[in-house]
Amino acid sequence: MTSALTELSEVLGPAGFTAASDLAGGSSLDDASGAGTGTLPLALLRPASVAEIQAVMRICFHHAIPVVPQGGLTGLSGGALPRADAVALSLARFSGVEEVDPLQGTMTMRAGTVLQTAQDAAGEAGFLFPIDLGARGSCQIGGIISTNAGGPRVIRYGMTRDNLLGLEMVLSDGTLLSHLSQVTKDNTGYDLRHLFCGAEGTLGVITRAVFRLAPAPPPVQTALCAIERFDAIPALLQKAKRDLTLSAFETMWQDHFLVGGGRGVFSPLPDYALLIEAENGDLTAWLEWAFAEGLISDAVVATSGAAAQKFWDIRENVRPERSLKGLHNLDISLPLAKTEAFVSACREGLLQLDPLAQSWFFGHLGDGNLHVIVDLPGLGPEGKKQVQDLVYPMVEKSGGSISAEHGIGSLKRDWLHHSRSSAEVAAMRAIRTALDPLGLMNPGKSAA
Ligand SMILES: Cc1cc2nc3c(=O)[nH]c(=O)nc-3n(C[C@H](O)[C@H](O)[C@H](O)COP(=O)(O)OP(=O)(O)OC[C@H]3O[C@@H](n4cnc5c(N)ncnc54)[C@H](O)[C@@H]3O)c2cc1C
Repeated sequence: MTSALTELSEVLGPAGFTAASDLAGGSSLDDASGAGTGTLPLALLRPASVAEIQAVMRICFHHAIPVVPQGGLTGLSGGALPRADAVALSLARFSGVEEVDPLQGTMTMRAGTVLQTAQDAAGEAGFLFPIDLGARGSCQIGGIISTNAGGPRVIRYGMTRDNLLGLEMVLSDGTLLSHLSQVTKDNTGYDLRHLFCGAEGTLGVITRAVFRLAPAPPPVQTALCAIERFDAIPALLQKAKRDLTLSAFETMWQDHFLVGGGRGVFSPLPDYALLIEAENGDLTAWLEWAFAEGLISDAVVATSGAAAQKFWDIRENVRPERSLKGLHNLDISLPLAKTEAFVSACREGLLQLDPLAQSWFFGHLGDGNLHVIVDLPGLGPEGKKQVQDLVYPMVEKSGGSISAEHGIGSLKRDWLHHSRSSAEVAAMRAIRTALDPLGLMNPGKSAA
């Protein structure tokens, strides 16, 4: 082991190699899930080029040392948590936008590029980077690809996968797979890009990517609507999809709306609040229709960017990274028609677990994605397992997914059978073994 660490420190130099003894209490030991236990990796490696990443992987392969890739550590499933028998491989020093091609409408960048940097570069070139998340200031391109991240704009632009044109990655033995394609149509065999997208670092290290950019949209129109009954929501969504170019359709249950700071916006306080954003179409006319149909009881239209931001603040105020310490965060998908029955059953089940239970429901309901934050003050740390034991069978029964956007990481593996069959997991394992025969890439994480 000592010789492997010496080889790694020689390849990377002091800027790229930090010994375990210097990492105690550092930020590389936990992600935004707060599930880190302080476990120190063998070392923190911070390569600054593809050649260095390949050299690191060759050394680790030769000595059979597991590797945990780390991006911005904003993941919510514990996918980047270090292990005592593995090195942590941070992409932070391999960052930067390499090219914006205005004719193709594409951007090529390094995996360690922070999402906000990519968004700013796209904006300066007159485009929109199609992915957006609350963690934009810290999460990295390699991290959003590895989790196939979503966010509020999925309804308009799709998940990360839908915007990814080309990908470059390094396998566990140091082999470089580079397919930085800028074209949409490319049926030249298995699409490895889609295998690596959402693989949570279990197939190799992502080093570069090409994204499709969207034309910069016109100023969006934003409104906050008061809704009294859940069955109005599917009707509103269908009509909004027909009449508007929707770029967000975010629903908050009353508990979330209040905790986000929504008190006083509507009187009386509605059971649900809907944040709707449209790039095109007549939002005012749509609101008038919704009011006349009795689907909304009130609405406020943002008259400035600052007013729109206030609506978003209500939606985003219950931030997972603040809430997760001691609370339980669920990220599930459900068919819209089954959502309200699920929410009622979930609340009832939680109160049976702990009569003091509190829960906050909100989500990207335009995509069937529900987030639930749960506080069970009467239960200790075991509460997290009890919540998942309660909720995931209900998700399965409703035909949903136990992870809509955050991945499986290390925190949801025990419940994967509620979303994937053993045959599916076996197929994933076969792929993983083919690409990583020694099982060195992020062991104990993700589905396989
Ligand atoms: C405030 C907040 C809001 C969020 N909002 C959303 C949201 O709306 N939608 C959503 O989908 N997610 C959301 N997330 C979670 C989301 O998964 C992450 O923010 C992001 O996708 C992870 O990026 P990261 O760089 O921080 O990755 P990390 O947390 O560092 O890693 C995540 C996984 O990717 C792997 N990985 C990282 N980089 C590489 C690489 N270069 N090669 C191979 N594997 C790699 C890691 O091993 C790990 O398994 C949110 C998180 C926070 C804290």
